Amino acid sequence: MDRDWGSKPGSGGATSAQNEAIDRRERLRRLALETIDLAKDPYFMRNHLGSYECKLCLTLHNNEGNYLAHTQGKRHQTNLAKRAAREAKDAPVQPQPYKRKLSLRKTVKIGRPGYCVTKQYDSDTKQRSLLFQIKYPEIEDLAKPRHRFMSSFEQRVQSFDKRYQYLLFAAEPYEIIGFKIPSTEIDKTTPKFFSHWDQDSKVFTLQLYFKIKPPEANKPPSAPVANGTSVPGAPPRPLPPPPQAPPPPPKAATRYSSSCTHG
Ligand SMILES: [Zn+2]
Repeated sequence: MDRDWGSKPGSGGATSAQNEAIDRRERLRRLALETIDLAKDPYFMRNHLGSYECKLCLTLHNNEGNYLAHTQGKRHQTNLAKRAAREAKDAPVQPQPYKRKLSLRKTVKIGRPGYCVTKQYDSDTKQRSLLFQIKYPEIEDLAKPRHRFMSSFEQRVQSFDKRYQYLLFAAEPYEIIGFKIPSTEIDKTTPKFFSHWDQDSKVFTLQLYFKIKPPEANKPPSAPVANGTSVPGAPPRPLPPPPQAPPPPPKAATRYSSSCTHG
């Protein structure tokens, strides 16, 4: 009987299984090369010798395929897991929510506050005075408005004019507002010069008295104008006394003009 055909039983199967395994590995390698962008792999590094390194495991690789095979291996996966665990442990220490809140605080301004400015004349002392009332209903908790005098030379918004100075008010999260007032020296010795923050009504009050100037220059100060603000066309009207503004305006002071915005 001639049985001279074919190979030994079983050998063909073994060969094809081997080929399949090689094919499978090659297919996976190609697939990995196609789907994994090595440029985005933080641990993949090409060294000056032209071979590749894993920066996580400090291993050397002849080619990209070898590196990719390594990334699927146990050593690399274990190191990845260790690093992830370490980063997760460190993460809560960073005050992330706080940071976000702080940066928000700096950027969000809710606009200009409303205000009233009243021109007054004290017949007893012959002094002219100004009463500022700034409304900050949305002021931040525990915040307190601040004020500051600024010379015309110091400010950068308008051109220099020595006849004027500026009075600035600030309170977060409102925009800073400035008033242009005569540069006449302010009488800081009188108790009638005061500033007061009323936490209940959220109104900041500041009253200032001008020193009496020599007769030739002693003319009424021009109406203060909010810096860069177009004051609504409402004509000045008598202002009723503020409900809770201690100390109350002096009785001798006569209000003769006031301008307000609605804020
Ligand atoms: Zn590795």
